[in-house]
Amino acid sequence: MARAREITKAAGDEAGEDLYRRTFERAASGLAHIGLDRRFIRVNRRLTEILGYSEAELKRLTGREISHPDDVDMINRARPALYSGKSESLHVEKRYLKKSGETVWVAITIVLERDAAGEPLYEIAVFDDITARKRAETALRESEERFRQTFEIAASGIAHVTLDGYFLRVNRSLCQILGYDRDDLIGRSVKEVSHPDDRDLTDAERGRVREGGINSAHFEKRYLRKNGAVVWVDLAIAVAHDASGEPEYEIAVFDDITSRKVLDAALRDKTELLQLGQTAARMIILDYDIKADRLAWSDSPEWLRGPRPASGDYPLFKDQVHPEDRERFVAERATSLATLQPGSQEYRIIRTDGEMLWVLARRQVFADASGKAERLLVAMIDVTERKHAEAALRESESRFRSLTQLSSDWYWEQDAQFGLKFMSGRMGERTGLDAANYLGRKRWDTPALNLTEEDWAKHRAQLERHEPFRNFEMQRPAEGGGSRWISISGEPLFNDAGRFAGYRGVGSDITERKQAEIALQEAHEELKRSNAELEQFAYVASHDLQEPLRMVSSYTQLLLRRFGERFDGDSREFMGYIVDGAARMKQLIEDLLAYSRVGTRGKEFREVEVEESVRRAVSNLRAAIEEAGAAVTWDALPKVMADDTQIAQLFQNLIGNALKFRSASVPRIHVFVARRDTDWHFMVRDNGIGIESQYFERIFMVFQRLHNKADYPGTGIGLAICKKVVERHGGEIWVESRPGEGSAFHFSLPIIAGERA
Ligand code: ADP
Repeated sequence: MARAREITKAAGDEAGEDLYRRTFERAASGLAHIGLDRRFIRVNRRLTEILGYSEAELKRLTGREISHPDDVDMINRARPALYSGKSESLHVEKRYLKKSGETVWVAITIVLERDAAGEPLYEIAVFDDITARKRAETALRESEERFRQTFEIAASGIAHVTLDGYFLRVNRSLCQILGYDRDDLIGRSVKEVSHPDDRDLTDAERGRVREGGINSAHFEKRYLRKNGAVVWVDLAIAVAHDASGEPEYEIAVFDDITSRKVLDAALRDKTELLQLGQTAARMIILDYDIKADRLAWSDSPEWLRGPRPASGDYPLFKDQVHPEDRERFVAERATSLATLQPGSQEYRIIRTDGEMLWVLARRQVFADASGKAERLLVAMIDVTERKHAEAALRESESRFRSLTQLSSDWYWEQDAQFGLKFMSGRMGERTGLDAANYLGRKRWDTPALNLTEEDWAKHRAQLERHEPFRNFEMQRPAEGGGSRWISISGEPLFNDAGRFAGYRGVGSDITERKQAEIALQEAHEELKRSNAELEQFAYVASHDLQEPLRMVSSYTQLLLRRFGERFDGDSREFMGYIVDGAARMKQLIEDLLAYSRVGTRGKEFREVEVEESVRRAVSNLRAAIEEAGAAVTWDALPKVMADDTQIAQLFQNLIGNALKFRSASVPRIHVFVARRDTDWHFMVRDNGIGIESQYFERIFMVFQRLHNKADYPGTGIGLAICKKVVERHGGEIWVESRPGEGSAFHFSLPIIAGERA
């Protein structure tokens, strides 16, 4: 502007006219004098260049006419201030359209030339072409706009950070990532929003970036969102320098990798889980790179292959396969590789420690582009336990089969409605009955000769209560006539859910046993009958014999009394024998009668104090006891249901024998008693001569004795009577003894029903 004023001054100087002219023409800026009518009065060459019109053309034009349509009247709007004297000059930057149509940016300065009276004469205008500068400015603006947009819309969070670590500028994404509003974030320190554990993570590297040691640095670090949540960020940092090359601020780019981190962690967890699963399931995956001939295991294969040999190398896997399975193993693997088909196989592995395992192996083959197998994946699990269980099951089944084949019994099954659903073949073989007649039917739908309706109802009720049953006997009619006796035992079946599923059990043919039982029963009945007859006979006979015997003995005695003197020695002696014989026969008959009376003349049982019976026996034996100086003692004795006379007789016989068969020492006789479950156990013990064990049975038989009557009088009926009495009372009698050590006669009598435990 200063220069323009100088020029104006010069123009008004007549003397400097020429100088002015030359200066005007050669000026580097475009110059013009513009009339008050706004037309160009004078223009220099530079202006014609700037506006693209010739001097002549310009002199016919006004600036307004060649202005860019958007910039028309810019100068007009400024003129009033110039003309009013408010401002000395006006200055605008505006566009003109050159003749060629091109736009040219021009900076214009205008001053007003006035006359001496101060009236405006014309305008002096200076034009400078600023197109290049304007383009650069636009380009810069556009570039900045582009940058601003990029900054703003970038998916990554971007921040400019001051060198001392405060947010200078932040984009929208960063606000989202960190969960802060822009205004919240700007001016806040980066460390403040960092996760405490990662706060100083970047310090060292950032220093190096700032010092120019490295261009940029990368980190993964955690920040805390405004709400406290942790966000994982991938962070890149670079430094922006000013024109002088000094670090100005940091540019930081943030990428939210939280979900990736979460996924990573989840994946890690999954991998761990898989690992755990593998371990728990004893599963291992073998990865065989066929081309490289390299084996990799998903886990330590020790459980499968055994302890690692000292050399560190296992034998070939193939060689660890059980020899019996190896051929099959090799063949099937080859097939898999050739056909590329997956397959599964079970085989045994011999571990390095000799232990054997069963594995189930599933194969998967992967082919290369040319279709050749290049990788083999084999998942193996330990199925040893299952194999053992299978073997045990097979074993148990075979045992069951042998059992049913070898046993004479048969096996049957009933459904939940008690219909027979299975019957093993043995039934037919054993009984000759046809299983078809029973299958599908309930047990009580077919007749059994031995069972009444009531019996069946009881059995049925038992089944309905799902109780086991033993030895249920049925007499089944046979088709060809006759019958078979069958005994069955069964137990209820429950399914896994605990629901009743029927019965199963065994059956056996008991026809022979039943026949034997029946025969035995018949024989027993017959025996009882004939015994009774015999007893009756013995009684009748001995009773009837008494009369003639009495006659023999009384007449023999009469004969001796009346005619005794007439007999000589021999006759007298013979007569003596007859009398003796008759007396002895009388005794025998009386004993026999007594014996038979035990069965035929016994009294009804009633409650008996055993002690009473013992006292009676002792009192009957008083003379003998006193004579021997014997001591007879007894325990506290119980009550029993008995025939009191017979019990007294029993004790009298036993104590009597103890006195009779005494040794040199003074007889000591004691009656013991002990309570057992259902009976009393009595014992009469003496210190007499004792008995050899070979005679223990015989002495209880009628008329059986071990001594002759000269040494020990008696007929040998006493113990036989004892036996009969005890047996009539439902007990047993036996002896324990050793010669010279005394004898113990034991017998039992039932405890009274109401007193049993
Ligand atoms: P008897 O007493 O009439 O001979 P028993 O039937 O009472 O007949 O006895 C049979 C035999 O048993 C006796 O002859 C005797 O040999 C033997 N005997 C019985 N009781 C005793 C006893 N307490 N000690 C030794 N022997 C005995």
